[in-house]
Amino acid sequence: MSVASSVISIVQEELAKHSATRLLLVRVRFGALANLVPEAMEFAFEAMTVGTDFEGAKLELAMAPVKLLCGGCGKEFEPQGKELLFAPCPACGEEAGHHVLAGRELYVEHIEAE
Ligand SMILES: [Zn+2]
Repeated sequence: MSVASSVISIVQEELAKHSATRLLLVRVRFGALANLVPEAMEFAFEAMTVGTDFEGAKLELAMAPVKLLCGGCGKEFEPQGKELLFAPCPACGEEAGHHVLAGRELYVEHIEAE
């Protein structure tokens, strides 16, 4: 519930700034490592907006790819497959010690309201 409620408060603040009241669409960008479960997020968002000015708003969840910096050779790469953090580097094959450059982000990327 906490991610949905913080998204809703961000949207409320933005709408207040622009004198809008009815939310049409909100797009949340999240990294594959952000521990966000899309189905749970959609369910929580719907449950929290029903009966409010935000009821019926479309929630778009856009996953951002993970980017790692190889712990062995320093090459930047996007891991493929399930092993995100311990994916083998395409250049040297190293599987451990990678530095996470992107993939943990979670933010409201776009809002449409009237
Ligand atoms: Zn490497």
